[in-house]
Amino acid sequence: MNDYYAILGLAKGCSQDEVKAAYRKASRAHHPDIVGHTPAAEERFKQINAAYEVLSDPKKREMFDLGVDPLAPGGGRGGGDPFAGFGAGAGFAGFGDIFEAVFNATSAGAGQRGPLPRAARGRDQLERLTIDLADTVFGATQTVSYNTYLTCSNCGGSCCAQGSEPVRCPACQGRGVRERLVRSLLGTMRTMDPCRQCQGHGTQIPSPCPECSGSGRVRGRRSIEVDIPAGVETGNRLRLTGEGEAGPAGGPAADLYVEFSVRRHPDFTREGDDLLADLAIPMTAAALGATILVETLDGPRDVVVRPGSQPGATVVLEGLGVGRLGQRGRGDLKVRLDVRVPQNLDDSQRELLRRLASERGEERPPAATSSAAGGVFTRLKDKLSGR
Ligand SMILES: [Zn+2]
Ligand SMILES: [Zn+2]
Repeated sequence: MNDYYAILGLAKGCSQDEVKAAYRKASRAHHPDIVGHTPAAEERFKQINAAYEVLSDPKKREMFDLGVDPLAPGGGRGGGDPFAGFGAGAGFAGFGDIFEAVFNATSAGAGQRGPLPRAARGRDQLERLTIDLADTVFGATQTVSYNTYLTCSNCGGSCCAQGSEPVRCPACQGRGVRERLVRSLLGTMRTMDPCRQCQGHGTQIPSPCPECSGSGRVRGRRSIEVDIPAGVETGNRLRLTGEGEAGPAGGPAADLYVEFSVRRHPDFTREGDDLLADLAIPMTAAALGATILVETLDGPRDVVVRPGSQPGATVVLEGLGVGRLGQRGRGDLKVRLDVRVPQNLDDSQRELLRRLASERGEERPPAATSSAAGGVFTRLKDKLSGR
């Protein structure tokens, strides 16, 4: 039997969107008009189309998932039977049936004793939500709109047109399975196959609901309010139970996962629960000390620069960082001082600085090794001499 998932490079349980995307990609890459009209290319392209025909149709896909090839001649007898016609004489079944019996014993539909319920849980879905840094600092509420499956409002998930209801499948008398006795060289074997008339459900829907084509659900858009917890980071996911796809035939809704992506902020970066920011200050403010009003996410706050602050020194504003995820309290805002040396001095400014240098005996900078405080060169020398 063809593995339609493998042909499109998909995994069982993939979404319809993934089927569509994989089909588009494969049909473009393997189109005979592009790769040449060789028999192998034509066959490959045929397989890709067959895979799409099965996987894009919920009914055919369901059959296939049960181990039945909906495209195989004769309504799906395992497909591509290599033993067809062999030993088909009266008196005992062909090898093909043995093959099929063994195959079915290991396939997904095996062991199915009763009818399969039509209703099933929907699939979980993932939506990405881009939020501002302030939303993760304080927590926030935001509306998320997304496409999903909704229970059909016309039939309420019953799949039946108004005034009609499902009828018992005449082929299997509502059991959903068909039992067959297969006589073979190995003796008589009993095999159970899902009923092909009702796809194993035991019932048929004589007049499907026109709104949902008998699936019990329709594509639609939903909007919900999402509480963004303080402290979330890019990649964090929030699970919203029962807000995902409605299941087929009135089955329960699955979960919605919201994955957060935090926008970059022009002034603040996050480090754990702390926020980091750079503050450019003139050299004179660093030397003399200053109080500088800055705009934080909490509004204007004073940054106190102590006299003699060095470039790269940090001023900590406690409790102005990011809210701690699932806990109380907030981290800190750490302001790094970016001390700017004045450029383009005019004559009188240059004179003032010269006088300052003269006052401090700094007209000629001290030789590196003579620094009493042990400058970077001194430390380097220590390292070299192994001290
Ligand atoms: Zn409906
Ligand atoms: Zn049936």
